[in-house]
Amino acid sequence: MSTSCSNLTDGKAIVDHVKFKKKDHMAPKVKHEINCDCGETFVFERVIMNCPNCGMTYAVTPCSSADINNIKQAGIRYA
Ligand SMILES: [Zn+2]
Repeated sequence: MSTSCSNLTDGKAIVDHVKFKKKDHMAPKVKHEINCDCGETFVFERVIMNCPNCGMTYAVTPCSSADINNIKQAGIRYA
């Protein structure tokens, strides 16, 4: 479909891409609820967010943010 939507599947690459585009403070299309590996649950309000408990960075590109499966981990406090 759209070629402007990147197919990045690596969390770190997503963070780098979204920050490069200066879209890291954009809201995702859907505010997903993230169930982190540490047991914390938080609302994904921006396309790059750290878990408030363990600091794991979660990232998605704005155009693919409607699907929770596109949200990837980038590592602890990567963002
Ligand atoms: Zn966590």
